[in-house]
Amino acid sequence: MVKKVLKFGGTSVGSIKRIQHVANIIKKEHDEGNQIIAVVSAMSGKTSELINLSKHISDKFDNREMDVLLSSGEQVTCALLAGALINLKLKAKSWLNWQIPIITEGEHSNARIIYMNVEKINNHLKQNGVAIIPGFQGISKQGDVTTIGRGGSDATAVAIAKIFDTHSCEIYTDVDGVYSTDPNKIPVAKKIDKISYDEMLELSSLGAKVMQSSAVQTAMMYNIPLEVKSTFTERDGTKILNQENIDYTKSVTGVAYSKDDAKITLIGVQDKPGVAANTFEPLNKAQINVDMVIQNVSSDQKTTDITFTIKRDDLLKTYDILKKNKKINYKNINHNEKVSKISIVGAGMVSTPGVTYKMFKALSEEKINILAISTSEIKLSVIIDEEKTLNAVKKLHTVFELD
Ligand code: ADP
Ligand code: ASP
Ligand code: MG
Repeated sequence: MVKKVLKFGGTSVGSIKRIQHVANIIKKEHDEGNQIIAVVSAMSGKTSELINLSKHISDKFDNREMDVLLSSGEQVTCALLAGALINLKLKAKSWLNWQIPIITEGEHSNARIIYMNVEKINNHLKQNGVAIIPGFQGISKQGDVTTIGRGGSDATAVAIAKIFDTHSCEIYTDVDGVYSTDPNKIPVAKKIDKISYDEMLELSSLGAKVMQSSAVQTAMMYNIPLEVKSTFTERDGTKILNQENIDYTKSVTGVAYSKDDAKITLIGVQDKPGVAANTFEPLNKAQINVDMVIQNVSSDQKTTDITFTIKRDDLLKTYDILKKNKKINYKNINHNEKVSKISIVGAGMVSTPGVTYKMFKALSEEKINILAISTSEIKLSVIIDEEKTLNAVKKLHTVFELD
């Protein structure tokens, strides 16, 4: 008998019919003698719908109440799934975050799971029961309901795998694994059988939402193997594991992109120590995530230009902070609010020369202008105009032989 975490995402529990289908998957696993902890997301679209409702009350809806609101989505699917399993004559039971409890630390809407009580759930499993746990939510030490970031049910599943010491952690979703790029946008994308934690972490933090990046990070830290598979087909999925278990035949494993970026350039900034720190400190304090930063070489030794990228939603706030910042001087400020970041990721890149050149040449053949570049050992990202996004992804996918 083995203990398993099965996580079902929003589309997998998006209707009553689908919830009944998920109940059958769980029944089959249970009938094979496994102990099952199921983690569920809210029905697809529900969390975004709740966020929109809050906006009708206020643009600055209270953070604490936002988490109370958003956690309701997962409460609904927990109960419906438990009910569907009871109909199949299984001893199923759901628990909410505070009943377990799932203790979190950190700010509202971006908390981290630090502890879970295992006793009640383990007892239920020993009595041949199936446990249903809501993803995405927790409770702070002060007793407030929290959520752990969009897509956070993946992180809940991985935390459960760790804390309950389960044999496997299976992420059921609407595609049958991790692909070389989003298969819903680029149909020639290929399924990857095995991918390393490092590569998956890069892909997910660069825009491949098939796995939430903090979930991958926790799995990597504790060496918890993950499997991404489809709720709707029985095909083999993708295993996410340690690099030693993978042979690299290609330099690039996947192409990811994010579309909601914006770029700001400060022109004529003084070129002296402390200017960059003074520019970015207030942005950091306001929790604005600055991604790529480029500073040009100063031609007159006095002034320079600084370019950086942020999420588009933060553009107005960033402008406001820059304009109020008395510690910096600049001649002008401009922005491009429709840029996207295209990245190639591959553990095989380290040992393959010429990847950078190949990427730049491919983009130039498509007449795509590169606005900024950033690299690490296993990834290369460029900022380009948003309208060229799919064009660039397709071209790179072909050039790096991923089609
Ligand atoms: P869930 O609700 O099950 O958590 P998500 O919508 O969060 O599912 O993630 C699955 C989606 O991720 C797919 O439908 C697909 O469009 C998208 N996706 C983006 N990049 C990739 C990729 N490289 N491989 C597979 N899916 C991807
Ligand atoms: N329901 C949450 C969201 O939409 C969490 C999740 O689905 O993983 O972000
Ligand atoms: Mg998801």
